[in-house]
Amino acid sequence: MEKHHKFSIWYVLIGIWVVLIIQNYIASTYAVQTIPYSQFLNYLKANQVVEIAISENQIQGKMKIDSEEKKFKTVRVDPELSKMLEQYHVIFKGQIESTFLRDIFSWIFPLIIFVGIWYFLMKRMSGQQAGFMTLGKNKARIYMENELNVTFDDVAGVDEAKQELVEVIDFLKTPDKFTDLGGKIPKGILLVGPPGTGKTLLARAVAGESGVPFFSLSGSEFVEMFVGLGAARVRDLFVQAKQKAPCIIFIDELDALGKARGVGGMGGHDEREQTLNQLLVEMDGFDPKVGVILMAATNRPEILDPALLRPGRFDRHVLVDRPDKIGRMEILKVHLKQVKAADTINIERLAEMTPGMVGADLANLVNEAALLAVRRNQKEVGMPDFEEAVERIIAGLEKKNRLINIKEREIVAHHEIGHALVALSLPGTDPVQKISIIPRGIAALGYTMQVPTEDRFLMKKSELLNRIATLLGGRAAEEIIFGDISTGAHNDLSRATDTAKSMVKEYGMSSKVGQVYFAHEKRLGLLGIGAVESHDYSEATAEMIDREIQEIIANEYSRALEILKSREDILKKGAQLLLEKEKIEGNELQALMHDS
Ligand code: ADP
Ligand code: MG
Ligand code: ZN
Repeated sequence: MEKHHKFSIWYVLIGIWVVLIIQNYIASTYAVQTIPYSQFLNYLKANQVVEIAISENQIQGKMKIDSEEKKFKTVRVDPELSKMLEQYHVIFKGQIESTFLRDIFSWIFPLIIFVGIWYFLMKRMSGQQAGFMTLGKNKARIYMENELNVTFDDVAGVDEAKQELVEVIDFLKTPDKFTDLGGKIPKGILLVGPPGTGKTLLARAVAGESGVPFFSLSGSEFVEMFVGLGAARVRDLFVQAKQKAPCIIFIDELDALGKARGVGGMGGHDEREQTLNQLLVEMDGFDPKVGVILMAATNRPEILDPALLRPGRFDRHVLVDRPDKIGRMEILKVHLKQVKAADTINIERLAEMTPGMVGADLANLVNEAALLAVRRNQKEVGMPDFEEAVERIIAGLEKKNRLINIKEREIVAHHEIGHALVALSLPGTDPVQKISIIPRGIAALGYTMQVPTEDRFLMKKSELLNRIATLLGGRAAEEIIFGDISTGAHNDLSRATDTAKSMVKEYGMSSKVGQVYFAHEKRLGLLGIGAVESHDYSEATAEMIDREIQEIIANEYSRALEILKSREDILKKGAQLLLEKEKIEGNELQALMHDS
């Protein structure tokens, strides 16, 4: 379709040329005769001029020569001069400066520029849009991949999800075996899980393992600028896929396309709805026996249109969850193969240091460690590189050269020791691993790194309260030591408040509010403008919730104050040590506690 655009400039130029020739021809045949001014005067004296029309610098008219009327025109000449010229019988004529070229340029140039811009825009658009001429012709063919060299071995730590997908691979390899037995194959498989857990990777691995073509599109790519285009694209995708069966169609980020219909903002969602409807129609219309398996991934299943999840559509859900410690070890092993790692690497220790990280974070971690090793001119990636990479990823980049004045450093040091001391004094808090006042990233001036010893799935009320106390420990320390508080605690406050809020509204941990769940908040808005939050409880309850949250925070703050007041000397000593060393280990602080 590129060809369609190349011609345009030439067509326009040829068109202009043709028009000019025709004009010229007409002018030469029918035009009035141009005569010198002197001749006009002669005709005038000979009484041959019949009528004239005078304009600023030209005279047009008719004259009669041998009883034949002729049109003429002549350019006027300064009347005084013309009298003299006549006296001396000079042939003279007026001349208007030709404006022909100027005229041409004055409209050809803008035209060329205009055409140029149009051409450029068309080209740009064809880049993303396939141009006006080919609306709806799918670009899915670009997305077909035949040789995927991703296998199940590349995806680690998600064994349950893999198990569920083995059957799909079997089917894609030998569809006949299944259909002969009359077995029912799932049509749509939805991979659900947090971002970075390997959903996309898993889908590709299924295609790689079964050796079938893989059509992949992301949900947002369906939602097009032109209404109707997305729907056409879906139709085309299924047509192409059926031709290539057995194969896999994979729609990544299904939530972009499959958001529940009929809610939300204005504009733009008409197109999405049409596309979604088309997808539903196509899903209903195809028979899995042809060997097309539809897979999709989302990290927000709760916002999907329920119609998508109905039986016969995406009815098989595969959870791709955050990896546990063993899972993280396996993922690390996969990615460590990509780098030259030292034998001294303790994978188990690395997995312990990275709770909550998902596959994508771990891949990034290995890469960061390798970069650090390169920067240090090492031959292999060693354990210290990994340790630093963990810190980097957790707390942002170390910025040793950022200057903080001495007073501020003191505040930060006491603040961090405050967190750490409260944590060490309370049971059920995560052990303090490191305390640092080396500024990192943009916001954090210091940090206290607490690492859970194990993956946690349940939290007790007392533990949550201890956690809030720990978060407030920083500010409490500032108050005790300096008698004043700083802005450094805003992140702590926000986290503490969130925890308290969840305790009251979600976990039923407030005796006054009771064992209720109040977190369904709906966003309602007129045409999406001025969305307001509405809740399903009374104003009185809302007030009570607010009061309970404030009370939890106030209680925990006074608890933190108490703990720190009784250990004020350790707080001071710890802060001193931290100011000296910039970074101390949790057990160094613990040693201080035992000494005194
Ligand atoms: P998602 O689609 O769930 O957001 P991706 O599949 O795009 O996550 O993962 C991004 C990258 O992270 C992958 O290319 C891979 O390098 C790494 N990764 C994620 N999960 C895993 C895993 N389970 N095993 C190995 N690598 C993983
Ligand atoms: Mg993905
Ligand atoms: Zn803090």
